[in-house]
Amino acid sequence: MSELNLILLGAPGAGKGTQAALLTEDFGLPHIATGDILRAAREAGSELGLMAKQYMDKGDLVPDEVVVGVILERLADDDARDGFLLDGFPRTIEQAGALGRQLDSHDRRLTAVLALDAPDELVVKRISGRRICRKEGHVYHVDLDPPKHEGHCDIDGSELEQRDDDLEQTVRNRLEVYHTQTEPLMAYYEERGLLRRFDGTRSPTQVHERIRATLATLRLEEDL
Ligand code: AMP
Repeated sequence: MSELNLILLGAPGAGKGTQAALLTEDFGLPHIATGDILRAAREAGSELGLMAKQYMDKGDLVPDEVVVGVILERLADDDARDGFLLDGFPRTIEQAGALGRQLDSHDRRLTAVLALDAPDELVVKRISGRRICRKEGHVYHVDLDPPKHEGHCDIDGSELEQRDDDLEQTVRNRLEVYHTQTEPLMAYYEERGLLRRFDGTRSPTQVHERIRATLATLRLEEDL
């Protein structure tokens, strides 16, 4: 069976991270999330992190050449050789082009682009109530998925915090950026026959089941 090379595409708050966690468990793929890589660089106070911070705090995109370099390097790591799950990359046509050229040059192909559709008002609601545990990044929502003890993670007891860029004003900008710069990727991948769309307003379990069914069909088709 050939490698599983997947992209999760969708607005912030559409459920990419949640689906990524489930799919990583299913298929043992490395979950490569640009946002996580940039946040880790910021925490570490590296040059990359300090530079990225200026853009992330406003909800703007970090420049293509920076992000592309980081991701292409990551894709060359051993654990990504037999498949990967990209979350939050590509976010521009330029990034998609760079990824495509890199994969072509190694005779690798994308399996599918999994797009999660969710209306703006829902994602604003999801993100502005999102709280993340300080230690391991477990995710909660103050109304939709509250922890048992307010402000603390059920799993490791650590304090929950709000991401700086999850404040409503920044979320609105991130959405605007998504519509202008990232949404055109839907048509880009549709033209290449790779796009598979899912209703991101459904529960995580329902979305996950549908993605699995789609991937099963794709793999059967491949074996025919
Ligand atoms: P995320 O965790 O995916 O919501 O990403 C958080 C922030 O990291 C974004 O608002 C951007 O500032 C930055 N970022 C993440 N992925 C990318 C990307 N592919 N291109 C540019 N900036 C990115």
